[in-house]
Amino acid sequence: SRKIKESMEQGSMIRRMFEQGAALRLERGGENVFDLSLGNPVVEPPAAFFAELRRLADSPEPGMHRYMPNAGYVETRAAVAAQLAEETGLAFTHDEVVMTVGAGGALNVVLKTLLDPGDEVVVFAPYFVEYLFYADNHGGSCRASINGSTKVVLINSPNNPTGVVYDAGLLARLGEIIQTKERQLGTEIFLLSDEPYRRVLFDGLEYPHVFHHHRRSIVATSHSKDLALPGERIGYIAVHPDYGDKGELMDGLIFCNRTLGFVNAPALMQRIVARLQSETVDVGEYQAKRDFLYGQLRDMRYDVVKPQGAFYMFPRSPIDDDARFVDELMEYGVLVVPGGGFGVPGHFRISYCVEDKTLAGALPGFQAAIERYA
Ligand code: PLP
Repeated sequence: SRKIKESMEQGSMIRRMFEQGAALRLERGGENVFDLSLGNPVVEPPAAFFAELRRLADSPEPGMHRYMPNAGYVETRAAVAAQLAEETGLAFTHDEVVMTVGAGGALNVVLKTLLDPGDEVVVFAPYFVEYLFYADNHGGSCRASINGSTKVVLINSPNNPTGVVYDAGLLARLGEIIQTKERQLGTEIFLLSDEPYRRVLFDGLEYPHVFHHHRRSIVATSHSKDLALPGERIGYIAVHPDYGDKGELMDGLIFCNRTLGFVNAPALMQRIVARLQSETVDVGEYQAKRDFLYGQLRDMRYDVVKPQGAFYMFPRSPIDDDARFVDELMEYGVLVVPGGGFGVPGHFRISYCVEDKTLAGALPGFQAAIERYA
């Protein structure tokens, strides 16, 4: 379709990076290319994951690979709810949880359920570029401010691409603004929190939950990063237990989980993550990489905010033309993503979820590239 051709054109930057990276590897050899462009966890899932996998393979239960209720297994939803209740102090039950095909699936199910044609989703730049396509999938569009067409305010903390965590004070102000606007406009606005990096937090930080700041709040998340399972496609949606029209909303989410074609989240993974709700990968590894890279970049005089979570950094490019600077880094074998793709030109994104030797190998390139503009 014309529409998809246009969308692919818009999203062509990452593809171009991918192709140039492949060409560079052929030309220089893989060991001389330092790919910091992808958000793929470098750590393996925790030992408890493999123990569960083995247990299920060794003693399969009859019917464990069949269709199930579209919201997912009650046992899994109850385990997620118990964990959320412990973290938030709110009375979550399995009735507020729908298991999904990753966070991407969760976001699409929520937006499908909430958006009428022409409705708007407020996003804050820099944002995860897929949000633009996800809103469009369901007849909506993204914008930077609230108006009468706003149905959803979508936030992401810890943030991709900056690694910043929204603190409770900021969330409280956001909740107040949304509620003031709802009163002024006579509308209902949902606060949708995309939080696949919720447990990838540094320096002992506690995660400030959105549920305390707006009744109409919904979490979309996954175990792609906290259990290092992005290829297994397992996540969930959680709705505020005190949201008034919860029954109708949950029915809508479950309907969309089915009719978007996922039908339900993967059965085996649901059984496994039911027992892993209090497990997390070793976040210390990511923190050590952050400390190393942040220190090095600061010494080189890059202007960069210190990440509090996730595994990305978003330094300012020493020149306004971020695409050009990214090309210059590529000349030194370093692959990163231009900030323009996240709605904030003049920056670039580094994914530091890579082997230490890849990080160390990229340093001379970062140094040489900024020296051109010293
Ligand atoms: N949201 C953000 C901000 C992400 O960075 C990602 C993946 O990188 C996703 C959503 C999608 O997560 P999942 O792989 O669980 O669908």
